[in-house]
Order: sequence, then C-alpha cells, then structure tokens
Amino acid sequence: MDKSKELYYYSLLEDMTDMMNDPDNFDRDAFIRILTRFAELFNVSKGVTEFYMSLTDEKNGYGEVLIDYDNGHGDKEIVKRRIVAKSGVVMKCTFYAAADSPELPTEDLKKLDLIARMILGLVSRNRLIGVVEKLGFTDGQGYPNYRTFLRYLQNVNSEGTLGGRVAFKYNLRHFGLVNQDVGRTVGDVVMRNHFELISSIVGNHGIVCRMGGDNFIGILDKKDLESLLAALSGVPVVYDNGNLKRVMVRSSVGVFELPDPYRFEDPDDIMDILMPAASIAKNGSGDSIVFADEKLLKMKHNSMMVQKNFPKALAENEFFPYYQPQVDITTGRTVGAEALCRWKKDGRLIMPGQFIPVLEQSTDICLLDFYMLDAVCRDIRRWMDEGSPIVRISVNMSRKHLIDVDFVEHLTSIIDRRQIPRDYIEIEFTETVDNAGFGELKQVVEKLRSVGIYTSVDDFGAGYTALALLSDIPWNIIKIDRSFLPEQGKNDTANLLPIMKHIAQIADELGMSTVVEGVETEEHVKIMRENNCRIAQGFFYHRPMPVTDFEELLLEETS
Ligand code: C2E
Ligand code: MG
Ligand code: MG
Repeated sequence: MDKSKELYYYSLLEDMTDMMNDPDNFDRDAFIRILTRFAELFNVSKGVTEFYMSLTDEKNGYGEVLIDYDNGHGDKEIVKRRIVAKSGVVMKCTFYAAADSPELPTEDLKKLDLIARMILGLVSRNRLIGVVEKLGFTDGQGYPNYRTFLRYLQNVNSEGTLGGRVAFKYNLRHFGLVNQDVGRTVGDVVMRNHFELISSIVGNHGIVCRMGGDNFIGILDKKDLESLLAALSGVPVVYDNGNLKRVMVRSSVGVFELPDPYRFEDPDDIMDILMPAASIAKNGSGDSIVFADEKLLKMKHNSMMVQKNFPKALAENEFFPYYQPQVDITTGRTVGAEALCRWKKDGRLIMPGQFIPVLEQSTDICLLDFYMLDAVCRDIRRWMDEGSPIVRISVNMSRKHLIDVDFVEHLTSIIDRRQIPRDYIEIEFTETVDNAGFGELKQVVEKLRSVGIYTSVDDFGAGYTALALLSDIPWNIIKIDRSFLPEQGKNDTANLLPIMKHIAQIADELGMSTVVEGVETEEHVKIMRENNCRIAQGFFYHRPMPVTDFEELLLEETS
C-alpha cells in the first residue's frame, strides 16, 4: 500500500473512531459511506454483519443479517471476525472479494481485520442497548418483568398522572394444579392467554407485568377496575383454539386505589401498601380480593413499629408477665396461673395481640418466650425465698421453637439456673390448624414430660383439631378453647357442648386434666359443672393481673 493510500486509510479510521466515540448520534448513512470507502481501498466486494442473541439462534440462523456494502462483484471470503460476548450474544463481520481478485498482502488483511473488529464494536454498542432492554425488562418467557413495572411507575409518576389510578397485584390460585391437569407446556399457554386477557383489560392506560412464578403486578385506570376484578375472580381460559378446551383460572388479588392527586417519593410507598393486601388475599381465609385500606395500613404500621422496637425493648426489660389465675370451681381457689406477656412502652400497656403475631413471623418470638420463662422463674424464685404461697405457672411457647433441636435443654437450663422445681412450670403449645410439625411436637412433649415439666395444649378445639393430638401426645393438661362456651345472649354454640363433654371425658380417660378458657359468666360455670370440668380460667373469676396483685390474691386465699 503506497503512502497516500495509507494516509487515506488512517483518516478513514479516524472518522470511524469518532463515530464510535459518539454512539448517541450514530448515523448509519455516514457509517455506510466510510465502509464503502474502505471497501474500495481494499477491493472488497461485500461486507456483511450478523447479530444473534445466542449460540442457538446463530446455529438456527435466527438473527439479524445486515449487508453493509455490496458491489455485486463476488463472494470469496477474505476476512471473517466472530465475537461471542459474555452475555451469549454472537456477532460476525465478514468481508468478501471478487473470485478472481489477487490475494491481499498480510498487511492489508490485518488492516481489514481491524476494521471488522471496529465495526463489531460499534454494532455491539448499538445493538446491546436493545439486548439489555430485552434481557433486563422481560423474563425468560418473554413477559415484561418487575423492572418494567417500576420503570412504568417512575415514568407516570414524573408525568404526575398516577393519581386516581389503581395498583394491583394478583396470584393465580392453584396454578400448580392446572399444570398438573394439563401439563406444563399447556400450563404455559394458559398462563400466557390469561395474561393477554388481563393485558387487554388494562389496555393502553396501564401495564401488567410478571413478578415471577404465578405472580403479576400492574397499574390500571379506575374505570377498568370492575372488569379486571371480574376477570380475576374467575375466568375460563381457552388453551386449544381448535377444540375449545378451557380451564378455569381464579386469582387472589390485592388492590390499592391511589388517591388523587398522588405522587410517591419511592415506588416502595406503593409496594408497602399493596403487598400486604395481596398477601392477605392469597393466604388469608377470607376474600380473595383485598383492598388496601386504613385498617391494613395501621396493621402494617404496627408491625413495622414492633419489628423495629423489639430488640431494644427486650434489652431494656419492657416486657413482663401478667398472671391470670386458674380456679377450681368447686372451691373457688386458685390452683395455677398462666403468665401472659405485656409490653410497657412509653408508659402505655400493649397487649400481646398487637405484637405476638408480628414476632411470630420471625424467630424473635422465641427470644421473647425464653425471656418470659425466665421472668416467671425469677418471680417463683422470689416466692420461694420469701416463703410465699406458690402455684404452678404456665408459660406460652410458640411452635416456632420446635425446629430448635436443643429447645428442651435450653428450657431446662433456664429453670434449673434459678433452682426452681420443674413441676412448678407448665409449658403451653397452641393447637394449630395443620399438622405440620406433629412429629416434633410429640417428641418435645415427651421429652418435657420425661424431665418433669408439665405440658398443656392451648386453645384446644379452636382449629380443625385432630384427635391424634390427644391420643398420640402425652399432655398433662388440655386447655379447652373458649369458642365452646356460648357468647352472652347467643346460643350458637349449643351443638358444641356435646363435643366439649366428650373432650372432657376423653381427657379423663387418658389421664389428662382440663382447663376451660374464657369462663365469663355464671352460666359458663354451670356448663362446666354439667360437663365435669373443674378448672376455669376466665374473667368471671379473675382477669390477668400484675404480679403484686397476684401475690396478694394467693396470700388472701391461704390466710
Ligand atoms: P392464650 O394463651 O390463649 O391466653 C388466653 C387469652 O385469653 C389471654 O389474652 C387472656 O387475657 C384471654 N382471656 C382469659 N380469660 C378470658 C375471658 O374470660 N374472656 C375473654 N374474652 N378472654 C379471656 P391475652 O393476654 O391478650 O393473650 C393473647 C394471646 O397471646 C395468648 O392466648 C397467647 O396465645 C399469646 N401470648 C401471650 N403471652 C405470650 C407469650 O409470652 N408467648 C407466646 N408465644 N404467646 C403469648
Ligand atoms: Mg395460653
Ligand atoms: Mg388459650
């Protein structure tokens, strides 16, 4: 290549570099002009760039092929560059020459190769923006993803047009069963068709995206909400156009109607309200459509307060037991008591209903339970030291403990550390609706029994009790749930009474005692007598009380 050609080559190269450094203003025509000049310089007859999203696409020839230059003089391949990017994207650039053209000197081939690499650099820059878009904003199956949703939210938020719209999140109910029934592939078709249907309801004034699995999230105009909810509450979805095969798809959905006007600081402002509603819709026993309202907001607020304050509150001894006496109805005397947790925060007493369910969501509840047991042991130790009257105290333990293999050891170490006779302590576990952890529960109760600690099953009969809970687990005490007793003025539990009678009988035969919870009236006491139940815990006798009141009560009864 002579000197002047060489200079020309470098000036073209410079133009191309400038172009690469300014990808935002990429001008394809100018690019082709430079390429044409290169081609003439090296007698190239044709330049082709190819772009594939993946190796498989390349193999199947499914990609984009651009002929950047072609003078029609032949296709003898002279230079070929192929790049496989980390993302899996494949790019190729090939130069051809006329079949009868002389071989190019190595020097020139190298120069051409440099051009090919620069072209690919440029292509990758421009095309990768598109790829990133595609990879980043859709999921593996091509559904717009959560990021697409967030981007949409940000956009409408900055336009200021969010106010008055509706945010929704839904879950396809029992979609696993649909997959089982029709197979996964057809299941995918069902999901896709369902998605298309919902998308068509949402139309251009909103968006629906998939969050993963069978969870979807979106925004739509208030006027379309009714149609959306109608479709989500159950709609037949066709999955085989020919045969008109259909399957019913029902969803659970959380709905948040945005105030008007509305603007967020952070998209989480919406998620924080929408997600609890969706999760109640999905997991709650009630309605499958749940609107985020004041009450829900308060719940959310409360649970954040609890989670945030718990560690400090525990460290600063803000929790302590109230004691509720258990009374022998034949003598009227206190024979035991249940320790019930109270939280004194900023001079206010917080009831367990407000914090136990929140703590139950993590293992924080276990810390609280052990803390309570220790607090009870402290009280008993003091009574022992002072020679005060003492009754057995029952302490509630969450089922969360059951996964702790050293639970019983942990428990006995707390009791033993204060040298409390173990039979002063009773441990309550609630009966739950499912029988998850039944084996663990059985083991723990057996172990506790073997080390001399009493056990009771709490709220018995409140859920769908399995009788195996009684026959297979050696409880000392059954605490019969208060739902067996009629509420004042109502007689809606009449048909439960025979069951209560039988529970008492079974307990007796199995050598267990019973405590009836929620005894509030004279009538309740009468029912207890008729059913041979002897120990009552309820407001009729005593409400839960501070330890000093409890000590006084025991003293009075013994004097
Ligand atoms: P629980 O273990 O079933 O405790 C009995 C609950 O019924 C107590 O509510 C008690 O105040 C209430 N109660 C007693 N007699 C009557 C009555 O005659 N009528 C009515 N309507 N209610 C009565 P509390 O103290 O609000 O505790 C609620 C629940 O919180 C407890 O139910 C227990 O499940 C849980 N809890 C309390 N303390 C602890 C604890 O330290 N650890 C754990 N894991 N749970 C606790
Ligand atoms: Mg209890
Ligand atoms: Mg109870």
